[in-house]
Amino acid sequence: MKAVATPRVLLVGAGPGDPELLTLKAIKALRQATVALVDDLVHPGALKFLRRSARVIHVGKRGGCASTPQAFIHKLMVAEALRGERVVRLKGGDPFVFGRGGEECDALREAGIEVEVIAGVTAGMAGPASIGVPVTDRRHTRGVVLVTGHTGDPGNEVDWHALARCGLTLVIYMGVARVQVIVQGLRAGGLPGDTPAAVVCSAHTPAQRQAVCTLATLAETLQQEGLVSPAILVIGDVVQASPMWAAALLPQGALSHA
Ligand code: SAH
Repeated sequence: MKAVATPRVLLVGAGPGDPELLTLKAIKALRQATVALVDDLVHPGALKFLRRSARVIHVGKRGGCASTPQAFIHKLMVAEALRGERVVRLKGGDPFVFGRGGEECDALREAGIEVEVIAGVTAGMAGPASIGVPVTDRRHTRGVVLVTGHTGDPGNEVDWHALARCGLTLVIYMGVARVQVIVQGLRAGGLPGDTPAAVVCSAHTPAQRQAVCTLATLAETLQQEGLVSPAILVIGDVVQASPMWAAALLPQGALSHA
């Protein structure tokens, strides 16, 4: 057993997809780890920065797939840290953006374990950037909202009506399965059907696909183009700044009159 002064876990963001989006701090943490608990959105290429002797534990949590219960992940991290392992908890994107990073910090701190958080590049920023969408372009908006399309709790639905009126770019995580509800809610709240929209799936991976469309055509675009999770939906006038907008080979008028 390797004794360390205070048990510690590093909660590390791996960025979305491409391992080149790891930060230098993340790489340093990976190099020092003896145990890594890894989410399934983490690119396998990120693991090459681990020592050969490091133990890798995959703890996937994708919606609909076999997943590791969150409580088990907490227990495992605590047990490994108390054994004196240098534990890295590697999460896709940024650990605090829809990553349950807050819950994991709480569980660790309650067990008397120190936590260091290493921020990562989040998919909601890197996805739009990869297709040239400047999410806070001041010519179009005053800011951006990061919001989940899937709360997992019917009694606690996102207030799409309020978001329709906020005038900010909407960057929606986990939105593919609920796109109809999202579009309906936004339109009922007053957001015009011709509001520009974009989808980026598997951003920064070889499987990346993207499309631009309008709020009114978003659901059919996802279906027709076979755009699937993991994906980021972007809704707002900033999408017009993407070169894809001008170049979109959409039927005449589909963008402006949908
Ligand atoms: N902590 C992560 C988000 C985890 S929630 C982050 O900061 O990026 C999982 C959701 O993130 C997915 O459903 C999808 O909406 C988005 N996502 C993660 N990786 C992605 C990728 N490479 N391309 C597009 N969306 C991605």
